[in-house]
Amino acid sequence: MTSAKPLPKKGVMDIAAYVPGRKSAPGVDRVHKLSSNESPLGASPEAIQAISGVLDHLETYPDGNANALCEAIAEVHGLNRANILCGNGSDELLTLLCQAYLGPGDEGIVTEHGFLIYKIQIMAAGATPVTVRETDCRADVDAILAAVTERTKIVFLANPNNPTGTYLSMEEVRRLRAGLPAGVLLVLDAAYAEYVRRNDYESGIELVSASDNVVMTRTFSKIHGLAGLRIGWLYGPHHVIDALHRIRGPFNLNAAAIAAGAAAVRDRGHIDRSVEHNSVWLRRVTEGLQELGLRVTPSAANFVLIHFDPDGGRTAAKADEFLLRRGFVLRHVSAYGFPDALRMSIGSKEANEGVLAALKDFLETS
Ligand SMILES: *Cc1c(COP(=O)(O)O)cnc(C)c1O
Repeated sequence: MTSAKPLPKKGVMDIAAYVPGRKSAPGVDRVHKLSSNESPLGASPEAIQAISGVLDHLETYPDGNANALCEAIAEVHGLNRANILCGNGSDELLTLLCQAYLGPGDEGIVTEHGFLIYKIQIMAAGATPVTVRETDCRADVDAILAAVTERTKIVFLANPNNPTGTYLSMEEVRRLRAGLPAGVLLVLDAAYAEYVRRNDYESGIELVSASDNVVMTRTFSKIHGLAGLRIGWLYGPHHVIDALHRIRGPFNLNAAAIAAGAAAVRDRGHIDRSVEHNSVWLRRVTEGLQELGLRVTPSAANFVLIHFDPDGGRTAAKADEFLLRRGFVLRHVSAYGFPDALRMSIGSKEANEGVLAALKDFLETS
């Protein structure tokens, strides 16, 4: 068949491109960006320091295996280095998983309000995303298992999930794994693992170690405050690491990312401060919003999903406009199935208190 211009392969033009969180508020100088779950504490000073050593040698290729970084991660988490693969953000690792395990005719399972990248990458691989309903904004293990067919190759679970902030207990994740056929890969995206303070939560490390069909992905974009450098890592069985190695770019992490990441993961003090700040403010923000009469989905991560009441005329869109005028940039979540909600990242004290005060004014005056 001939066409008048080059055409992308089937499925590509059906993809709705990912829209990142906004950065600015029109006409406002002092902006608080609370739209991408970035760390209000910034990067570890040691990570910033580590980059300076890289600047003298920008003409050389980085280490294609990102050894210094993989070794630092292995050491800190007590893992075998051979089971770790680093990526240009965990987004790249999710892409590689789809490219390696999915093709036309295959199905990848995602949940109703799950992270949107999964669906995009399943489609980019030519496969079919199957969306499973959630219960009360939480992934539902039985619904996921009921959706598995002979075509299912991958199940994606963000735990905790973005944008809901809800999580599944390790017992539930184990039950999910136990119910999957051996040939289905379970991907546990634990981007927010460090923030979770719940006794029944586990990021997935133990399950990966004990299974042949589970991988866990992690990111440096959230707790480590290094979103700008693009660093993620995956922990999985040898056979999965081996497959991903074959299709990844040969220098998928840049030299600055390798150096800064290795320093960041070893800076326990900075991680602890970030976790502590988040624990304190996640609670205060949640309670503050509830005191204003707003419904908040209980979050275990570094953001909250705030629900507005369209019947009262105080819609999410109006709240967003009101907040923007005061310099508070939150995240639209219509694409995640929440037209009447906004997602707010936990920010600095000033930002958190500012949003609470602004929403109080909004609800009183509108
Ligand atoms: C932020 C986030 C990531 C991180 O992606 P990077 O590419 O590492 O920046 C991964 N998964 C989820 C669910 C996220 O919210």
